[in-house]
Amino acid sequence: MNQYSKEEGAKITIVGGGAGGLELAVRLGKKLGKSKKAYITLIDACPTHLWKPLLHQVAAGTLDSHADELEYYALARKHHFTFRLGRMEGLDRQKKEVHLSPVNDENGEEILPRQAIAYDTLVIALGSQTNDFGTLGARENCIMLDTPDAARHFHTRLINSCLRAQSGGKGAGQGRFTVTIIGGGATGVELSAELHMTTTILSTYGLANFHPEKDLKIAVVDAAPRLLQMLPERLSESVARELRSIDIEVHTNEKVVEISKEGVRMASGKFIPSGIVVWAAGIKAPDFMKDIDGLETNRLNQLVVGRNLQTTRDPAIFAMGDCASCPHQDGKRMVPATAQAAHQQASMLAKSLVGMMKGKAALEFSYEDHGTLVSLGDYSTIGSLMGAIAKGPLFIEGTIAKWMYWSLHKHHQIAVNGLFHTWLSTWAETFNWARNPRIKLH
Ligand SMILES: Cc1cc2nc3c(=O)[nH]c(=O)nc-3n(C[C@H](O)[C@H](O)[C@H](O)COP(=O)(O)OP(=O)(O)OC[C@H]3O[C@@H](n4cnc5c(N)ncnc54)[C@H](O)[C@@H]3O)c2cc1C
Repeated sequence: MNQYSKEEGAKITIVGGGAGGLELAVRLGKKLGKSKKAYITLIDACPTHLWKPLLHQVAAGTLDSHADELEYYALARKHHFTFRLGRMEGLDRQKKEVHLSPVNDENGEEILPRQAIAYDTLVIALGSQTNDFGTLGARENCIMLDTPDAARHFHTRLINSCLRAQSGGKGAGQGRFTVTIIGGGATGVELSAELHMTTTILSTYGLANFHPEKDLKIAVVDAAPRLLQMLPERLSESVARELRSIDIEVHTNEKVVEISKEGVRMASGKFIPSGIVVWAAGIKAPDFMKDIDGLETNRLNQLVVGRNLQTTRDPAIFAMGDCASCPHQDGKRMVPATAQAAHQQASMLAKSLVGMMKGKAALEFSYEDHGTLVSLGDYSTIGSLMGAIAKGPLFIEGTIAKWMYWSLHKHHQIAVNGLFHTWLSTWAETFNWARNPRIKLH
């Protein structure tokens, strides 16, 4: 089904409304959609957007995902683009169509049939999913923390485990359960600290028989010699110290080889009996992207693009964010898969596509590393800032780091919803923070 006739202008179709794709749709909607110079269509498998770096807070219960979600249909009306609900499952480069699978409701009844959405220019920005590297039992026994549904599922299991420990009618320490987090990168570390904080608060909500320090064990496992490989060693050590000080077990140099219903087994023979296992190590693009309609992909199924974000075999198709493998300007490495990179690529690509419509050459992407911040819940925020703020890396901790971390999400909200709405929603968040319990209990 072709959505538009030729007289209506160029069709720019974006697949994936995440950290990068949504910002791009908003920018192009304002620059080209409003004046009808082009028709911008955003496709997403979900009707709402939640900024992915918030998922560990949804999992721990410190963030109500429904309160933070944005409706794509409403954003589309506001920013002059069209939203199409559906999951991309294929591509026809000859016909210039993206194929979407049928959308069903929770009872399996079809809401939308299979769709084919036309494009003149296609931008693929459908992100990544967790890469379990084929580890035995991982798919069946781990929660993969890569969607809001997975984060909510984890949260429900956590609360249920705490209630079970509370109502077991046992003495303190006898209801012990373990949450094992595989992956000592930012996601795993942040989740472990957030979990410790939330279960401590939860125990004050009248759960007299639940003593988190005795009833809950949190373990973080990584195959690398230290946590947070992307941070300087000094900061990694500081984070590991902080985690151990609140009784979170840190197992580095431990390669996980099998996950069963009983727990996690390492290559060294070590075994951690575990009630809940979260996999938070590594990413890949979805499997259906592998060599999709003849496009070049790498071993992580990411589309190989040049510095202008054009795919190597089709100049009408661009890719950005986690699903793209884009060379860094230094020629030695790839642009990292982070929200920071997706945000910068969206800004660059919006400018580039507007220029290309005027006959200008495509712009090239240069990644600016502004540093890395890791939030340890209420305990601390640690990180390094780069670039404009400091000449070399500047190590920060405490309140300034906490404020900088918070401002990352605000930047995304401003890009999507404008300054005024972000200001309003920040006030609403403040009121809700004062009104609602710290931890979501369902
Ligand atoms: C728990 C967690 C914490 C993180 N913390 C940080 C952080 O602190 N800082 C940082 O810089 N990065 C962080 N990241 C990484 C960051 O979230 C990603 O790098 C970033 O979101 C990538 O942006 P994207 O636009 O490529 O994809 P995403 O933001 O993942 O968006 C992809 C979109 O595509 C949609 N989609 C997926 N498949 C399909 C399909 N087949 N058809 C249609 N739509 C589809 C999804 O619904 C989604 O809306 C974190 C990631 C996780 C999981």
